[in-house]
Amino acid sequence: MYRKSISAILALGLVLSSGSAYAQVKSAPNEHSAVAFDNKVIKKINADNMYNTIAYLSEQPRAAGTEGEYKAVKYIENQFKSFGLETTIQPFPIYDTQINHVIVKINGTDIKEKPNPFSGSISKQVTAPLVNIGKAFPEEIGDLTGKIALIERGNITFTEKVQNALDKGAVGVLMYNNSSSGNFSGQVQDGQNIPAVAITRATGLQLVEQLKTTEVVATLDVDIEKIEKTSYNVIASLKPNKNKDTGQIVMVGAHHDSVPVGPGANDDASGVSVVLELARILSKTPVDTEIRFVTFGAEERGLLGSYYYANSLSKDEVPRIQAHFQMDMVGSKDAGGDNPFGGFIMYTLDGKKNLVTDLGAAAAVRIRSENISYGQVGRSDHQPFHELGIPSAVFTHAPLEAAYHKPTDTLDKISKEKLQQVAEVIGASVYQIARPDTPALVNATVAQELVDYSFENRPID
Ligand SMILES: [Zn+2]
Repeated sequence: MYRKSISAILALGLVLSSGSAYAQVKSAPNEHSAVAFDNKVIKKINADNMYNTIAYLSEQPRAAGTEGEYKAVKYIENQFKSFGLETTIQPFPIYDTQINHVIVKINGTDIKEKPNPFSGSISKQVTAPLVNIGKAFPEEIGDLTGKIALIERGNITFTEKVQNALDKGAVGVLMYNNSSSGNFSGQVQDGQNIPAVAITRATGLQLVEQLKTTEVVATLDVDIEKIEKTSYNVIASLKPNKNKDTGQIVMVGAHHDSVPVGPGANDDASGVSVVLELARILSKTPVDTEIRFVTFGAEERGLLGSYYYANSLSKDEVPRIQAHFQMDMVGSKDAGGDNPFGGFIMYTLDGKKNLVTDLGAAAAVRIRSENISYGQVGRSDHQPFHELGIPSAVFTHAPLEAAYHKPTDTLDKISKEKLQQVAEVIGASVYQIARPDTPALVNATVAQELVDYSFENRPID
């Protein structure tokens, strides 16, 4: 699970849909048949396999672009291949920043703190009058030709702020934090070729005060280098029986990278372990739908692997993908608080139900007599698929555990029972689409029981 900056979360416009709704899912004539099909998959699930995968993967951190990631990638590739799946490793570039120096001067004097360059900022030195433009809403900005914009963090994304200033002619951006604690930085996107630097709230507010009465000339001096590294996605395809091929694709994903500081047993070796276990089982089960098992790299750096993969899909492939099931942090003993079903929840990017949540909710009722609610969160690899119009959700336990993104995210916090539950629900859901007895899935009408499940505004952390 990716920790997003506050600005970016707000920029997503988290408008919560209200109340609960009912999933009108077609009833099958014989509900027992659905359970019989579930059993073809769920009876074969072995929690020890998943636990052992996590044990191996969490021996070391797996930060994108490191040896640890590559070791995990080779392990996952070998597992998929051992199941007889057509497997590819998809490399993609990621960039680290090496900071040589970043200097901010006000009227020729260095500020009394260490400023941070925006990620992706160009290296350049500019000296120009400073203009306070608030949070950089476009309607509040006048002409900035030849000026450096002083911006407060918050409400809109970093790149929007930079673009709004650029559009009015700014030659640099100096952004101050919107809270007095926490980290401060930002990011620019390709083509935003002005130096951009972040400073603390205290210094920012001093400048705002100063600008009320006098002119201020600022110098931004940024000297940073981009270092290219390689991260990877691992993609395994289970092909349908040639005589019974609907031409459709269903995807099952997790991310194999971890944060640099922790071994990522739950985040997200747990999701990978379920992907591998379902791949093992389904590779021996006839299907009429291609099942694509993917583990993504560089999720923790902002969903880079899944965006790279989604962008690499051909125009012809996208409409064939019926669903993307993402699993992120699905095995922690300590996650979920006092919520029912261990805190198991499904999140969609737009807070609306879709085929994935319908299938997941129906499977949980069939198999475990449990209700799973759904909520609205991005922050994982379901996001790029949603943006392509593919029904998608991330399955997790919320609220997240205390060990999230810490060195303590270790194997001893993993619950085999939680892994088992998640594998059953996802395995049964995927098999509803992929089993050869169903007619080709056109719309969200394959789940076998009428279930109701509710929107829940449950925060993730
Ligand atoms: Zn994470």
